[in-house]
Amino acid sequence: MRVFSLESVIDEFEELTKDAGQQQRETLRKILEQNGEAEYLQKLGLGGRTDPESFKACVPLVTHSDLDPFIQRIANGDTSPILTGKPIRSISLSSGTTQGKPKLLPFTDELVQSTMQIYRTSFAFRNREYPIGNGKALQFIYSSKQVQTKGGLIATTATTNVYRTEQFKCTMKDIQSQCCSPDEVIFGSDFQQSLYCHLLCGLIYSDEVQFVFSTFAHSIVHAFRKFEDVWEELCEDIRTGVLSSRITVPSMRAAVSKLLRPSPDLADSIYNKCMMLSNWYGVIQELWPNAKYVYGIMTGSMEPYLNKLRHYAGSLPLMSADYGSSEGWIGANVNPSLPPESVTFAVLPNIGYFEFIPLEKPVGQETEISKATIHYIEGEPVGLTEVEVGKEYEIVFTNFAGLYRYRLGDVLRVAGFHNSTPELQFICRRSLVLSINIDKNTEKDLQLAVEEAAKLLAVEKLEVVDFTSHVDTSMEPGHYVIFWELSSDAATEDVLHSCCNCLDMSFVDAGYVSSRKVGAIGPLELCIVRKGTFHKIMDHYLDLGGAMSQFKTPRFVGRSNIKVLQILNRNVIECYFSTAYGI
Ligand code: AMP
Repeated sequence: MRVFSLESVIDEFEELTKDAGQQQRETLRKILEQNGEAEYLQKLGLGGRTDPESFKACVPLVTHSDLDPFIQRIANGDTSPILTGKPIRSISLSSGTTQGKPKLLPFTDELVQSTMQIYRTSFAFRNREYPIGNGKALQFIYSSKQVQTKGGLIATTATTNVYRTEQFKCTMKDIQSQCCSPDEVIFGSDFQQSLYCHLLCGLIYSDEVQFVFSTFAHSIVHAFRKFEDVWEELCEDIRTGVLSSRITVPSMRAAVSKLLRPSPDLADSIYNKCMMLSNWYGVIQELWPNAKYVYGIMTGSMEPYLNKLRHYAGSLPLMSADYGSSEGWIGANVNPSLPPESVTFAVLPNIGYFEFIPLEKPVGQETEISKATIHYIEGEPVGLTEVEVGKEYEIVFTNFAGLYRYRLGDVLRVAGFHNSTPELQFICRRSLVLSINIDKNTEKDLQLAVEEAAKLLAVEKLEVVDFTSHVDTSMEPGHYVIFWELSSDAATEDVLHSCCNCLDMSFVDAGYVSSRKVGAIGPLELCIVRKGTFHKIMDHYLDLGGAMSQFKTPRFVGRSNIKVLQILNRNVIECYFSTAYGI
């Protein structure tokens, strides 16, 4: 029988990070040996060498578009060793938030292994500080459509690829994270119905739930917004033991009906607790009294949901989950008691070979920046153990899935070291940049501006449910457009106009400020969209094959993302133009 020991997981991690440099050389050697036969490497003339210096000299830095033709061939059924030595058996579709369409990526057994290693590592550290008992987890997880590529491979989101494996079930057992809902709910074909059933199953097992989880925090917030609408119906199902007629997917209906018994006492208790709550503050803590924390990725584009999540969680701690992507994992949160705003990820030096491109902010020479060096001056890539605390880098990795010197496009800051491996803080995605001419604003800048302006809504007890941005250059001069969905339509014109001015003033990037002052960028436009608009955007991404579990609201919608732009524009109910700069 397998015995899972938290101490040994922690010991293993400590051992692994003692000499991260050596681990990295070893990992690169293994990757290159395993995949030495791959056409991609063969062409680059490494000639069997596996040392970092030869690797860097022969292999170019790439982005997804460089590798896409190779991945397309794999998807089309070419089984020769193209990127990896072993054949690739399935394809992951990344969320494609930025480009507006999913990216194709190789999915391999090694990715499953590293996913389990990350899950176990962060759980071991988490459980040392916040031990959970035996029980279940209320997990808002959803699989996405599984389609076949031309070549007969399964293509689905990376999370679904993971959920489909045996190891996933095994690890969930090891780390006491078994989901309240049966598989038929997770793999259900209708996201809305799955969400309702997750809530219902969570309530049926309310005393057993040890924590609440979703991959990205947005799904938890979304789930509880839904709960506000359907809580009475959920109580009714529990009271009568009969599942609501809204659940029509036969397998889901059958599986959840099996768990339901008429339980009037439980229904009364839930009903009374809900009635006592003030504006749903602390609903999670109240309804799941044995839950120890709320868990999920809360950094990066999830930060804007933190306020609402804290509100729903009450005094339960929020714990931010690990850092990775459909392409591969990077680091685990081994300091679980840090608040989500300052969480860091310790890089696991055996799951890939990592390099870091130093990014320097040009000081006082904004007018000279060319488009090619958007926002940063890039240095030569350095190794994992050569990064410096306090500096920012773009991460590059090489892993067992056949991605060599792959630029993920994320900006990270080194916060410190755990033994000799760096602890990284997520800053933002590099490509998400609002820019008209010399101005450069990242996703983070946008988030800060929205937070600042949203403070003005507090007097009217309103909140920003979700937001995104666009650059409108259809007229001269171009200007920024910010779209807001609000929690109610009750905002007054005065307040919204002040919000609009505040947004404009909150982009403090020197390029933006100077362009606004001289009128080279027009007044910022704040567009309020109908309630439910961002839901429609999410549905659009789900239709494209995305999964709720991996959904991230696009914070910037480019001109080419016609469908999303149409959804936004069709739902605008009012617009305000900034008067902050007078022009
Ligand atoms: P996907 O394309 O769906 O695989 O998403 C991967 C991207 O999600 C990464 O490149 C990051 O930009 C973002 N991401 C993943 N994990 C985190 C995290 N812990 N914090 C912030 N952003 C994250």
